[in-house]
Amino acid sequence: MAKKYVYFFGAGKAEGNKDMKGLLGGKGANLAEMAGIGLPVPPGFTVSTEVCSLFYKNKKRVPEDVKREVEKKLKRLEKTAGQGFGDPKNPLLVSVRSGARASMPGMMDTILNLGLNGKTAAALIAKTRNARFVYDSYRRFVQMYGDVVLGLKPVAKDDIDPFEAIIESKKRQRRIENDVDLTAEDLRDLVARFKAAIKQKTGHDFPEDSREQLWGAIGAVFGSWDNERAIAYRKMYDIPDSWGTAVNVQLMVFGNMGNDSGTGVSFTRDAASGENTFYGEYLMNAQGEDVVAGIRTPLPIADLRRDDPKAHAQLEKIRHILEKHFRDMMDIEFTIQQGKLYMLQCRVGKRTAFAAIKIAVDMVAKKLIGEKEALARIEPDQLNQLLRPIFDPAEKDAAIKGGRLLVKGLNAGPGAATGRIVFNSVDAEAWAKRGEKVILTRIETSPEDIKGMNAAEGILTARGGMTSHAALVARQMGKVCVAGCGELAIDYARRAMTVNGKILKEGDWISIDGTTGQVIKGKINTKPSEVLQVLIEKTLDPAQSPVYQTFAKVMAWADKVRTLKIRTNADQPDQSANAIAFGAEGIGLCRTEHMFFGEGKIGPMREMILADTLQQRKAALAKLLPLQRNDFAGIFEVMAGRPVTIRTIDPPLHEFLPHEEKNQRALAAEMGISYLKIKERIASLHEFNPMLGFRGCRLGIIYPEITEMQARAIFEAAAQTKKKGIEVVPEVMIPLVGHVKELSDQEKLVRRTAEAVMKEQGVTFKYLVGTMIEIPRGAITADEIAGVAEFFSFGTNDLTQTTLGVSRDDAGRFLIPYVEKEIFAKDPFEVIDRDGVGVLMRMAVEKGRKTRPTLKIGICGEHGGDPSSVEFCHLIGLNYVSCSPFRVPIARLAAARAALLNPPLAASAAKKPAKKAPAKKASKASKPSRKH
Ligand code: PEP
Ligand code: MG
Repeated sequence: MAKKYVYFFGAGKAEGNKDMKGLLGGKGANLAEMAGIGLPVPPGFTVSTEVCSLFYKNKKRVPEDVKREVEKKLKRLEKTAGQGFGDPKNPLLVSVRSGARASMPGMMDTILNLGLNGKTAAALIAKTRNARFVYDSYRRFVQMYGDVVLGLKPVAKDDIDPFEAIIESKKRQRRIENDVDLTAEDLRDLVARFKAAIKQKTGHDFPEDSREQLWGAIGAVFGSWDNERAIAYRKMYDIPDSWGTAVNVQLMVFGNMGNDSGTGVSFTRDAASGENTFYGEYLMNAQGEDVVAGIRTPLPIADLRRDDPKAHAQLEKIRHILEKHFRDMMDIEFTIQQGKLYMLQCRVGKRTAFAAIKIAVDMVAKKLIGEKEALARIEPDQLNQLLRPIFDPAEKDAAIKGGRLLVKGLNAGPGAATGRIVFNSVDAEAWAKRGEKVILTRIETSPEDIKGMNAAEGILTARGGMTSHAALVARQMGKVCVAGCGELAIDYARRAMTVNGKILKEGDWISIDGTTGQVIKGKINTKPSEVLQVLIEKTLDPAQSPVYQTFAKVMAWADKVRTLKIRTNADQPDQSANAIAFGAEGIGLCRTEHMFFGEGKIGPMREMILADTLQQRKAALAKLLPLQRNDFAGIFEVMAGRPVTIRTIDPPLHEFLPHEEKNQRALAAEMGISYLKIKERIASLHEFNPMLGFRGCRLGIIYPEITEMQARAIFEAAAQTKKKGIEVVPEVMIPLVGHVKELSDQEKLVRRTAEAVMKEQGVTFKYLVGTMIEIPRGAITADEIAGVAEFFSFGTNDLTQTTLGVSRDDAGRFLIPYVEKEIFAKDPFEVIDRDGVGVLMRMAVEKGRKTRPTLKIGICGEHGGDPSSVEFCHLIGLNYVSCSPFRVPIARLAAARAALLNPPLAASAAKKPAKKAPAKKASKASKPSRKH
């Protein structure tokens, strides 16, 4: 049997279903599902995503056998609809829409009202007796087709759409303000003017033949998979190029057939707050684009009860059917044509992080889903949004009292953002690149603005509702967004806007509150989120914060499921306390060298480095000992018995010395030695490649007195803490070990010191000695190293740079282009390179545990807070991940999801090919730097 490429749906039947998203795309699969469960879906067919690949392989042409299949389905559609495609008496009109496996809102192309030409338009007028409606549909069709298929678009960034320019000139000529005042005759004239402009500017004739229109549209929709904004979006959300889009051809239904028609976009629950109320917008006598594009400001869905009570009641029913059927909050598009309701789309609704969490928690309470399913639905990165800043309330109050409140728009993306106004995406990107905080301010955003939106702190728009492009995309990105501020009169050409009599120019500061919709002139400082106020600042009572309570519930579920422990990288007692508040179960990395930069410590540290003799060095170390001891004791007390991994000094010594002559002279004066001597000493410590030079355990091996001092400080602090009745479990970690003998050298020294301190102090305590696995030889010889090490911790920052031969400090210049060119799927310093570094890690785990089956293994590189890398750590059987305090909640959830989405921990699990990383926003986060 020939392979099937086209799937029909409609009239209560469907050849596809919701589980066929890979083949039919999200839109096609759910249209089929809705049709299959008897919801009112206009009939149509889906050309599968496989055809998209065939299209590109076939020189951007749809293969002949697929064309034949489409023709067959078109016949069936004609039969179902009782209309003929291109029929001059009873014409069938269709929409042609894209629909990929993952939702890519507005990134690809759509053509509506296809099938219209002079003859079919006349037939439609005879049928509907509504010439204005027909010519309005016709001019929209020519406009979309002209743009999408024939390529008549704005050229420069400040240009307005050429079709809009024609409409504006027509309105001026007719001295009218609104599109709705254009008559049928005006619209008919627009159709002619559009066609003439297309011919003049592109050289193409507008096709009158319906079939030619259809093939042009199908080709353009497949072609739009590879347009610039779709490619940028795929990169941002990890959508593989190979997926392709499906094309949905569907009977047109019209929301602009008169006042008994309308169209709307809504959510089965409130997408911003998560409240269980029907939430959305509609417009009577309008087409779908009018709602999403924000050209007219739509009405809240509750008002539909007044405009069309029957449709409203039917939609209420459908919202419950959909939630029960899909067991999730759905985003729907509907059209009412002359009083009859049609469902045009449904998909799992995008929501704010808080709404995502609240909906999941509420659905668990209603037994629609279980706790585990709730966890699987919350992306770890969404938690970031809960930890986002809010405005300092006092400052904001003062700003409002001081008359700086400019306007209130729709609270489309929660959080607080302050920045300088820019009026287009190109500038937003450029300004952000040079370190400016910007608020992208647009009349309305379109998919072309995606990069600028990503670069901005927040987005402010003059038009559009809660489901406008700006609102949807901002929420998805976790950006602060205020939309639909009708009072903003933006003049792109002048790079200025007026709002209620005030003028604001490009570069002026503005503050937007995406939770309340307020837009305030000037800069307002931001404050931590409610979760942070409860957990970190302790200024908010948990009982007063529903946000916190919901967060806490999810965290508790995550903790029940995860098998990975979560530790933190912290060097100070306050950081350790924050991490515990976020749920950390221990310290996975205390970088002792960070402590040397503390108050009063850099002096003795420099003395130690500049010492000429052992005696001088020991004298300097003696000064450092009590300082380090205090630091460790502070951490041990806060950690109260939780394991604490302390790493002996790692970075090259020259990092502690001043590099500018002025500072070197100051140091010479302070130490009472000559500037020349300092200069010479610093020169002698200079390394061409310090990353591979005199650092890590090499320092402690050549200067054992440094390790000895540090071990003594650790153990004396442990003894001191134990004497206070507080449990303490120090784990001493030796960095940059490549050969087991390096580790044994340091291990002996550490153990000797531990024994001595226990004897001197008259207390015993448990402690471990282990190592970082952060250079390839360490991983390769992990079996030998595990003979000495009681634990391993993967230093994936160094392991990545040494495995890839890519300097973590110098990679910025080529890594982003590398990712853009898809040489690396992801920045390997952000997400573990599973096929390279990951192979070494897996090998080290297996070899290490062969020698020492109980070997405790963790990770403390930056990857420990990245969800995909946490999943990998789970897969290869690590015991814990360690990350910065603020990423601990993300790691807890990521670890839970890793446990849920992957087979239980077992030796065989480690061999299983790793699953694809969850979709995640591309980040330009700076590399973990040696400049500690
Ligand atoms: C590492 O290399 O991954 C690590 C944690 O150590 P550092 O970043 O201090 O080199
Ligand atoms: Mg390292």
